[in-house]
Amino acid sequence: MFEAVGYFAQSGGGALLRQPFALAAPAPDEVVVAVDACGLCHTDLGFARAHVAPRHALPLVLGHEIVGRVVAAGEAAVRRIGERVLIPAVMPCGRCAYCRAGRGNACPSQKMPGNDIHGGFASHLVVPSAPLVPIDADLPVPDYRALSVVADAVSTAWQAALRAKLGAGDVAVIVGAGGVGGFLVQIAAALGAHVIACDVSAPRLEKISAFGANETAVLTGDDVKPLRKQVTAALKAREKTGLDLKVFECSGHPNGQNAAWSLMTHGSTNLFVGYTMEKVSVRLSNLMAYDATAHGTWGCPVEAYPAVLDLVRQGKVQLLPFLEEAPMSEVNACLDAMEAHTLRARMVLVPEN
Ligand SMILES: [Zn+2]
Ligand SMILES: [Zn+2]
Repeated sequence: MFEAVGYFAQSGGGALLRQPFALAAPAPDEVVVAVDACGLCHTDLGFARAHVAPRHALPLVLGHEIVGRVVAAGEAAVRRIGERVLIPAVMPCGRCAYCRAGRGNACPSQKMPGNDIHGGFASHLVVPSAPLVPIDADLPVPDYRALSVVADAVSTAWQAALRAKLGAGDVAVIVGAGGVGGFLVQIAAALGAHVIACDVSAPRLEKISAFGANETAVLTGDDVKPLRKQVTAALKAREKTGLDLKVFECSGHPNGQNAAWSLMTHGSTNLFVGYTMEKVSVRLSNLMAYDATAHGTWGCPVEAYPAVLDLVRQGKVQLLPFLEEAPMSEVNACLDAMEAHTLRARMVLVPEN
């Protein structure tokens, strides 16, 4: 039995409440992980403010971008005590029809910390051992903690690129160049695509230009014409067609979703990665008229993590320039800052105890 401390989201929203709680003993295939770092994601804000309901009843410990150490293990667990591990944000059950079909991302029995089970804004959590990704024990502490964001922000971007079959010579348009979108810019560049990053924030675009964006476009309101012109010109200049156009909507904002949809053309591929509760109005028939592909994507298969970690190890995806650490006790201040759009980096929260 572990006495843990966690930051619980409350029904009706408001500040997360710091509370001690008793962790259940791990089942035979589970482990207890002592959290070393947990990234703060926009999804946490939605849950914390009661804009979106997590699948588990509240109060619930939030946080799904976790690295930590195994401190207790069930008798059938595949990870050992003392190992450093990354906890994938989406952990499929591994047994159902979806999992057997290689579609674990859509597994209805998946476990996501801070959504289906208590998450990483805590000293400890209990997780299934099979999906955990071991991390090099020699990695320096700042790099190790930075890997927390691979659990969602970076791996989700990787999976989106895989889904779109993004490759060398493609033109990748990434709408929303912070968070997932910012990492997707780096991944698209690493895959050899010509990258056009779009965002409402000019400073954000300026920063991402040094990390793989070949062109940038500032999105202003709902006027999509300048962006359409720019993308058409980029395709033409490279003698590319819609078949080579991969559009990634990562902003989770109605204007961004409209912009991404408006770029649809003959044979193009549009991936929807960002999330909003808002509805948008689109001409669905464009999909038919252009014989285009629109795809959603959720999480990243556990098997894909080694490739993502390789990109980070090789420096093709840089994490530290986009992250900032804070003590976990500042989680509420960080959520407030996220809500006020004043965060300058993705926050990685470090437990004090
Ligand atoms: Zn997330
Ligand atoms: Zn499953």
